[in-house]
Amino acid sequence: MILKILLIAAVIAAVYFMFFKTKPAVQKSTKKEPKRKPTAADVNDMTECATCGVYVEVKEAILSNGKYYCSRECLKKAN
Ligand SMILES: [Zn+2]
Repeated sequence: MILKILLIAAVIAAVYFMFFKTKPAVQKSTKKEPKRKPTAADVNDMTECATCGVYVEVKEAILSNGKYYCSRECLKKAN
């Protein structure tokens, strides 16, 4: 009776160990997908300078009359 319980416990432990082993692999694959999405969002955050055509981040770009400029010099050139 005790041997049967030990055998069942060993099987459960083996199955649990297998699940535990495969889980990190699944987490790694799911982690890769969100990593790709922010890079795509980063590309979307890039905008072209209306004067020189250089790509700059929207955060760093200067917005004037609905157009983005990479620097104040380009903004002056446009105006
Ligand atoms: Zn520019």
